Amino acid sequence: MGKNKKNKTKKKPHSEKDTRDKLFTNLTELVESVEGRISWDDTCMLITVILAGRVTCIYHKIGCVFLGRDKRLLAMGYNGPPTGFPHCIDVGCAKDKGRSCIGAHAEQNVIVFASGPPRETFKGSTLYITSSPCNQCMKSLANLGVARIVFRKWYQRREIKEKGVVETPDKGFLQIAELAGIRVEKWSPKTGETKVILKGRKKE
Ligand SMILES: [Zn+2]
Ligand SMILES: [Zn+2]
Repeated sequence: MGKNKKNKTKKKPHSEKDTRDKLFTNLTELVESVEGRISWDDTCMLITVILAGRVTCIYHKIGCVFLGRDKRLLAMGYNGPPTGFPHCIDVGCAKDKGRSCIGAHAEQNVIVFASGPPRETFKGSTLYITSSPCNQCMKSLANLGVARIVFRKWYQRREIKEKGVVETPDKGFLQIAELAGIRVEKWSPKTGETKVILKGRKKE
């Protein structure tokens, strides 16, 4: 303000500063424009989106949050390589060579770094996650006594076949979720409502 001379330095179309500023401004405005109170489902799903922004894997960007029975945030995290390992964005993802990504899944990371005894901490909790869990993580979630899982997208298994890369929704976890009596719901960003995939029988 107050300067007659135009600033001649060219602005980059999407500098890091612009994107950052936009992210905070838009997000704040959007959140403040919501009428009434944001539901717990929406709040937790929003957090998963932000956490996914921390991910360094090229293919899977997954954030997750555990909400306790008493609606307290228990723990949160995202997928990434073990401490001290190189990141996919720096050295390339092993998936490109037909191997597994070295990143640990978001659920594994959260469980490992959570404070307190796992079973006591997570029993009866809800897991909010950007993509549905894989079969392996589902086994841990069953052991933890998780009561409900809310996800936004089906996890896409990425395989290199003769024709090229093939992605297929991985619904293998449902078998264990059903046996464990865990309620599974697919959340819609448009409505904030969930579609019940499995009814479950555990109390939240
Ligand atoms: Zn990767
Ligand atoms: Zn997993």
